[in-house]
Amino acid sequence: LQARREHGMVMQFDAPMAAEANERVALAGRLRRALERREFELFLQPIHRLDDGSVVSLEALLRWPQADGSFVSPAKFIPLCEESGLIVPLGKWVLEESARYHRALEARGLGHLSIAVNVSAVQLLADSLPALLRDLHREHGLRRGALQVELTESTLLRRPNSARAVMSQLRDDGVRIALDDFGTGYSSMAYLKALPLDYLKLDRAFVTDVDHDERNASICRALIALGHGLDLRIIAEGVEDEAQLSWLRDQGCDEAQGFLLGRPAPLEDVVASIERQLAGQAPGAPSNDPG
Ligand code: C2E
Ligand code: MG
Ligand code: MG
Ligand code: MG
Repeated sequence: LQARREHGMVMQFDAPMAAEANERVALAGRLRRALERREFELFLQPIHRLDDGSVVSLEALLRWPQADGSFVSPAKFIPLCEESGLIVPLGKWVLEESARYHRALEARGLGHLSIAVNVSAVQLLADSLPALLRDLHREHGLRRGALQVELTESTLLRRPNSARAVMSQLRDDGVRIALDDFGTGYSSMAYLKALPLDYLKLDRAFVTDVDHDERNASICRALIALGHGLDLRIIAEGVEDEAQLSWLRDQGCDEAQGFLLGRPAPLEDVVASIERQLAGQAPGAPSNDPG
């Protein structure tokens, strides 16, 4: 048994707890080295409008590739990065990489797409976020609104007044803001009313089975009505089949992302698939019809 003094209290650790703590310390070290060696990758997942099917934005999702070709899930390493503070430099790299990606999109004639970046509480409240985004837009010559941010409710609940101030500044600079995973946290109506937001993202937990699970259907209908009542656009996450997609479209949901529409993938793959889609849809696109 190990004991450690913390805030004047003796904390008791049993062997499994100590092993878990050691594992976390080791993982934190690996993450730090991975960032130094630029081993992270940023994948993109398309977000489609439901009225005409076109891609409007791309969500940037972190990937940590391993030697065996697998990836460690961000759901596992992001919380650890938040605890250790590594999220600030890591989040900065994500924003820089997103800015480089947007410049690449512009070079390919796809500058109308926005890139939506997940931002952690620590990063939002580090108070240099609006300045960092302004610098990146200037440095890379990005159009206003090229980068967007996604925040979760837990982010906003920690220090709601500071969060609101930063969010207002971001929006004044043309950065649109999504409330991510909506409905899974506290979902306080008071915050929804007070916060400057552009999008609500319906969590995958409610979107799954929405076409045949009456409870999920009720929740999604209510959240869509709530969001629209507040002048927000609604984005559904985790759409995996046609039945879910058409249900959401029928209910007036504005946008969607999910494996059905496109998996998170490297920039080049995503650009290629959007170019194929545009070529297929464009009037006057090359066809086999000689007349
Ligand atoms: P999120 O922001 O809610 O991202 C959506 C997650 O759903 C992603 O998981 C995506 O790969 C997954 N997803 C998309 N479509 C489908 C689908 O049809 N079916 C299923 N089963 N899953 C789908 P991912 O990439 O593992 O990321 C997990 C979470 O990690 C993200 O949730 C986000 O909160 C966080 N995260 C990812 N990248 C970053 C980052 O750069 N910074 C920060 N702070 N957090 C990040
Ligand atoms: Mg997100
Ligand atoms: Mg989400
Ligand atoms: Mg989610």
